[in-house]
Amino acid sequence: MAIQGACPKCGKRVLHVNVENVVGMVAGDSKARCLSYSCIHCNAVLGVQIDPRAKPRARSAAPKAS
Ligand SMILES: [Zn+2]
Repeated sequence: MAIQGACPKCGKRVLHVNVENVVGMVAGDSKARCLSYSCIHCNAVLGVQIDPRAKPRARSAAPKAS
């Protein structure tokens, strides 16, 4: 039952990915920090997601929920 994710482009095992900070654009405006994951062998982008670490712009001095 080993998980064997393989790159769809080069077919190599995806044991490591290159992580890049990219910017999500909506209608030409930068809207959100995103992360792109690419194959370390062939640089094919495997996925992009909104950066979970990105903080939304603070609108007021709202207390942080721990
Ligand atoms: Zn690859």
